[in-house]
Amino acid sequence: MDSSITRRDFLGSALLGAGAALLDGLTPAQLLGAPAEDEWTGYSGIGDYRHSNGNTLEVLQAGHKLRDGAYSSLLADTIDTGETYDCVVVGGGISGIAAALFFQRLAGPGKSCLVLENHPIFGGEAKQNEFEVDGKRLIAHQGSAIYLVPYPHSFIARFYDSIGLHTPKLSYQKWSGPQPEMTIGRTPYDSAGLSRGQYAFWFGAKFGQKPGMWVVDPVGKKLQGAPISESARKELVRWFSGRASDESKFEPPKYEGDEISRQLDSITLEQHIMQRSGLSQETIRTFLSPVEGGGSGLGPDALSAYCDYAADLLHPFDDGSGEAVQMFPGGNTTIARLMVKALIPSCIDGPAMVEAVSRNAVKLAALDTPGAAVRIRLSATVLSVHHDGDPAKADSLTVAYAKDGKVFRVKARSAIVAGGSWTAKHIITDLPVAQRQAYAQFYRSPCMMANVAVRNWRFLQKMGITGCRWFEGVGNYMDVRRLATVGIDDATIGPDSPVVLTLKVLYCYPGLPTEEQGRRGRAEMLGISFRAYEQRIREQFDAMFAHVGFDASRDIAAIILNRWGHAYLNPQPGFFFGSDGKPAPREVLRGAPFGRIAFANTDLAGAMDHRYSILEAHRAVGQIVDQVLTS
Ligand SMILES: Cc1cc2nc3c(=O)[nH]c(=O)nc-3n(C[C@H](O)[C@H](O)[C@H](O)COP(=O)(O)OP(=O)(O)OC[C@H]3O[C@@H](n4cnc5c(N)ncnc54)[C@H](O)[C@@H]3O)c2cc1C
Repeated sequence: MDSSITRRDFLGSALLGAGAALLDGLTPAQLLGAPAEDEWTGYSGIGDYRHSNGNTLEVLQAGHKLRDGAYSSLLADTIDTGETYDCVVVGGGISGIAAALFFQRLAGPGKSCLVLENHPIFGGEAKQNEFEVDGKRLIAHQGSAIYLVPYPHSFIARFYDSIGLHTPKLSYQKWSGPQPEMTIGRTPYDSAGLSRGQYAFWFGAKFGQKPGMWVVDPVGKKLQGAPISESARKELVRWFSGRASDESKFEPPKYEGDEISRQLDSITLEQHIMQRSGLSQETIRTFLSPVEGGGSGLGPDALSAYCDYAADLLHPFDDGSGEAVQMFPGGNTTIARLMVKALIPSCIDGPAMVEAVSRNAVKLAALDTPGAAVRIRLSATVLSVHHDGDPAKADSLTVAYAKDGKVFRVKARSAIVAGGSWTAKHIITDLPVAQRQAYAQFYRSPCMMANVAVRNWRFLQKMGITGCRWFEGVGNYMDVRRLATVGIDDATIGPDSPVVLTLKVLYCYPGLPTEEQGRRGRAEMLGISFRAYEQRIREQFDAMFAHVGFDASRDIAAIILNRWGHAYLNPQPGFFFGSDGKPAPREVLRGAPFGRIAFANTDLAGAMDHRYSILEAHRAVGQIVDQVLTS
């Protein structure tokens, strides 16, 4: 495994120190053209996001200090910046940026807003990785990936249009090369080859296979030869061929809050899949968990059945063309960049259009210009937000944040806390019991997005596949994807093209309580060094693809790990509409502001979707403008 340690992508970890001594006195930082790495972060790419892959080590350490109350002594002695804002927004993810944008548009001229974001760049889970492989710039999402074409006159359609996303249907790379064209999807979630025989399942040691075995075209071949029980085989063939559900017996919900959605929220997704699709618990837990968790990070055992429907009830526009789902090369990063460009036009050169904001670099200094109506302050971790006196009567708030090893404070007439449940409950120091108890019912679990840049994908083409799935090891599936031709150089794709294969690594422990699964997952994800993960991924790729000539040390150009400690909200039954006569936790927080503070972030909707980030921000700004700033 160490044969290629002189290559820049594998220069992370302890080897860097030793290696640097041999390399003409170059420091690891100089060698990589990037800041010094650490054991945990590893290689982090190039471009605007090179210092911000997933939650950075600094953010992680600050977050844990916050949780453990380690800043208490510093809070007694903060530095007054002398600033007062009409609104301070905590969190510079899509929800926080949307809140600043709505505030700018709705609060009236002359009103000021400050966004405090703890990462070195805005975007939250909507960020991207950039690689340079054999002279080509490759881009992949770190988290938030897809968006759906909105209904033309919907709120979201008008919002997209207002930030410069005028044509939500994008153009994608076309096939090139001498080989016959293969079926390639446009997102990491398409499994486009599955119905065309260009997909495969891999079974390894967990199924007694050493070396592992492939079943190519699992649906077409009805999983013949797979080392699994006959009943599991039949269930999986039905599931993956889309024939598992008897649609005549099940009516999906039409609107959020209708009777069907409330009934779904009273059971787990696992119970629902068992009832609706006749799958056994064992099959679900062995083969479908955690992938089929309704996009909520854990397996179906831990989630409300409504999770599977929440995002669909935003009613995207499906014109029958099969093109409802769209994705920029770096996922919803482009949407975040368009929003920031709309807020602070000078921060990215060029027009407020997708191509310019994708290609041109962010001018970080322009984000926080003294005197500007809207400012975004990066690498600033908010430690406390509290009213100056009785929340029912106070005219202002004090917001304290840590930056560059010091703690500062600003005054605010209102605040929108959009950072997510896991820090909101710690930083609002005068938060009443009802809201505190509500936040205590928000459980979040981790996710690691491992972006693996390969020099070509001929190894998959030799197997006749464009995607595959496995049931052990790191991640569960991957797909070659046809990129939208925005901000990239290659208008075509073929097996010789360098591509990024994304492994979404979820951590679930079926049967354990939801909160416990999140805690264990975080400990597992955070406790493994970059080098150990890199080694596991390389070994896994070699085990799966060496038989078609793949060699990890030659064919993998670089790996970037994006570790999200609190990636997903995991709504348990009752999360959406309440249980035992008690209100849903999200409603306690959405229903009204607390004093001068309103709450945003997608987790208040219970569905991890950037459209909800925007909608929750809009609701929160409405509360601030209509109810709080009136006095
Ligand atoms: C792996 C993954 C894949 C996803 N895929 C999709 C997808 O395909 N499509 C889709 O629409 N959605 C997807 N999502 C959902 C995603 O959550 C939303 O799209 C959106 O990016 C969330 O934005 P947000 O602002 O609500 O939250 P976040 O992105 O979490 O933003 C909150 C920001 O606040 C910061 N913050 C928190 N506390 C503090 C503090 N105390 N001080 C300062 N800053 C703070 C956080 O670090 C973060 O940067 C995905 C999520 C994950 C994790």
